[in-house]
Amino acid sequence: MFLLASVYASSRLLVGAILIVAGLGVAFLTWRAGVSQASVKYELQMPGGLKVDSIKCPNCGAGLDPSKMQLKQGAPTIKCSYCGNEFEVAEEPKW
Ligand SMILES: [Zn+2]
Repeated sequence: MFLLASVYASSRLLVGAILIVAGLGVAFLTWRAGVSQASVKYELQMPGGLKVDSIKCPNCGAGLDPSKMQLKQGAPTIKCSYCGNEFEVAEEPKW
């Protein structure tokens, strides 16, 4: 708008330029805030990571520690520390 006005009053050209730069700065900051918000939201919505935290033994239903998971023949397996049942952990879907 100020740029349009500068057509009639060249002295306002500088003001228009400053306002445009300021506007771009605000737009950039808003855009950056939006991006960081989106990434935070993404981190909070990790269904794969959440599911790994709650591995349950299909035999006795005990909650198992995902850090004890071992790769056997390419398949992630975990041994239940309660009943000794060793089972394959279904591969989590990659989002
Ligand atoms: Zn078990």
